[in-house]
Amino acid sequence: MSEIKHECGLFGVYGSPDAVEQVYYGLYSLQHRGEESAGIASTDGSVIAWHKGMGLVSSVFSPQILKRIRNPSAIGHVRYSTIGKSEWQNAQPLVAQYSRGQVAVAHNGQLVNTKQLRDSLERSGAIFQTQASSTVQCTSDSEVILHLMARPEYRDNLSGLLRDLKGAFSLLILTPDELIAARDPNGFRPLCIGRLKGGYVIASETCAFDQVGADYLRDVAPGEIVYIDKNGLRSETFAPAKPSYCVFELIYFSRPDSKIYGENVHLVRQKLGAKLAEECPVDADIVVPVPEGGTSAAMGYSQASGIPLERGFVRNHYVGRTFIQPQSGQRQKKVEVKLNVISDVVTGKRVVVVDDSIVRGTTSKSRFSQLRRAGAKEIHVRISCPPHRYPCYYGIDFQIKKELIAAVSPIEDIAEFLEVDSLGYLSIEGLLSCTASPKDYCVACFAGKYPVPAEIIKKTPEEFEEWEEKVGEHTIVV
Ligand code: SF4
Repeated sequence: MSEIKHECGLFGVYGSPDAVEQVYYGLYSLQHRGEESAGIASTDGSVIAWHKGMGLVSSVFSPQILKRIRNPSAIGHVRYSTIGKSEWQNAQPLVAQYSRGQVAVAHNGQLVNTKQLRDSLERSGAIFQTQASSTVQCTSDSEVILHLMARPEYRDNLSGLLRDLKGAFSLLILTPDELIAARDPNGFRPLCIGRLKGGYVIASETCAFDQVGADYLRDVAPGEIVYIDKNGLRSETFAPAKPSYCVFELIYFSRPDSKIYGENVHLVRQKLGAKLAEECPVDADIVVPVPEGGTSAAMGYSQASGIPLERGFVRNHYVGRTFIQPQSGQRQKKVEVKLNVISDVVTGKRVVVVDDSIVRGTTSKSRFSQLRRAGAKEIHVRISCPPHRYPCYYGIDFQIKKELIAAVSPIEDIAEFLEVDSLGYLSIEGLLSCTASPKDYCVACFAGKYPVPAEIIKKTPEEFEEWEEKVGEHTIVV
């Protein structure tokens, strides 16, 4: 439920005269993955031009800017910073000059060994300046990747470099000669390849292909590097695939019109709703989705339970995404105006409210109290994913365990806090049974088993508390 911040979105085009405009439209389609900053870097085959700024794609680019950077190959990025600061110098793509020339990098995910890599870089003194600023260094872990590319041992060894990165990374790299896409061996974040007339396109989600008339070819495989240049597309495996796809992409992050990990997101969510009805049945008069996240699952719940689906909330489309507001006061205000209840639909009814998640609980509480005020007789909340009990270290913004309501409270207490008549979550087994390949998903935030160990996870509880305090000050997630 609109409490979780998205990560980032990537879009790249090689070999199209309209590449920059296509990246612009592609980023529009991926805007839900990051609303804080946007950027495009492009090349004519000799130099890289770029523009980036804070805010939505619509506010960062003008026709004049797009014309200035118009070139046949380009990459773009939309960003959400999770815990760290939202600053211009952290906007991507990051562009740098090093001994082999110019390079632009866009990253979705989060590395878990950033500190070790930074320490090593500092010891070697192999620092080069980002063109974003010659004096202020970008603070995201994505910059570490740029710095590593400048090191002699990695200069002609991208595979070796990628093997040394630990954690989640879907990457786009643009040089004057080629567009490179890479995905970590676990494939945490999606990345797919499409075919355009005369060129190729790479995107975080397939919904962006539709906007530019590209045909979906396939996903970039976990552990794969794809090179696209004037000779076409070639592929290399830098590490064996160990799939642990982020299941939360299917539940919440990705757009319902996208195909993620080979499955349509809307259809998977419908299955989750149907499974939820089987696992958490309730006598009720209507099923009401919390839009937009709960819509597909509510359809599935209604179909499986036979309880009619009704529209209980109306969304105000002129309010920005609630969770994008960095200050909690603003966030709360926006929650209240973003959705309004159709009281004539819910008054006197026993309502099953279906939503995709409850993370911190504050947004949900406001939402359900709106329903109660509108006259709902009973409120039964059904969540189409398991309780979030553990932090995510792979690029999602819930890194502080004590902020997760299900980590600190039993479900009965959460229901009491939310002031609802009942609360039911989908089980982990139920969730995975709705996917095509249950063994290939990360469920660490539900089960606490992390597919890639992070240094922070090995700390003692006291050290971990200390780390959690610190992380709130400086960690940047892209
Ligand atoms: S911990 Fe949760 S949110 Fe993070 S990658 Fe795994 S499934 Fe996705």
